[in-house]
Amino acid sequence: MARKFFVGGNFKMNGTMESLKSLVSALDDAKLDSNTEVVIAPPSLFLIPVKQHLKEDQDQQVAVAAQNGYHEKFGAFTGEISFHQLADAQVPWVILGHSERRSLFHETNEEVGKKVAAALKENLSVIACVGEKLEERESDKTMEVVEAQLEGIRAEINDWTRVVIAYEPVWAIGTGKVATAQQAQDVHAAIRAWLKKNVSADAADKTRIIYGGSVNAKNCKELGNEPDIDGFLVGGASLKPEFIDIINTKLGSSKI
Ligand code: PEP
Repeated sequence: MARKFFVGGNFKMNGTMESLKSLVSALDDAKLDSNTEVVIAPPSLFLIPVKQHLKEDQDQQVAVAAQNGYHEKFGAFTGEISFHQLADAQVPWVILGHSERRSLFHETNEEVGKKVAAALKENLSVIACVGEKLEERESDKTMEVVEAQLEGIRAEINDWTRVVIAYEPVWAIGTGKVATAQQAQDVHAAIRAWLKKNVSADAADKTRIIYGGSVNAKNCKELGNEPDIDGFLVGGASLKPEFIDIINTKLGSSKI
């Protein structure tokens, strides 16, 4: 089946009121491929103003995502924002398990799985990130690592319909060192095979698996042509005008 192409922009801890306003204006003014789903993830402080600035009357409605969330609804959890609060504020998406959260904030596979389940329970959609470090790739452990990350999620959820899997090799994030289209395709195909074996044929067929790691306007077309690459999670380039070209990767392409 045809899976809708998906492009996410992860702004990380970047931007100011002023700079994000002009970024959103650029998105509002651009002609964006209406066959591509677009989600942008500003820092949580800016979720509401960014959402308010996004134009609603265009073919392509850009949605917003949080970059993290917490499973408890309310309480004494200083500094956290709950999935319940995100849902209440009509933030429809959340990125979970990003490698920076795993490495800098020590989120384990189990915690990420629990977060995915808690977010889905609040009817949020989830961009769930997986990916190996350089030393793991070099010692042929890529799929072992990725499968353990996926297993952390599978242990907690049955329904994958509101999950987009982002394969982000850690060595390619923010480094300018992009995976080759073949390297990415191989892992995406292996993730799809894992879904078929461990979840269902339907989940394997329908779940979007997007690539992240130094995607830019120059490399997006080749990556996007691979049969199992259903879009991108973009970091650095999502803050630049070329993000629009990345969103429009499939325009003029022959891939259905
Ligand atoms: C990311 O942080 O999810 C990412 C892919 O970053 P970059 O595009 O900058 O490598």
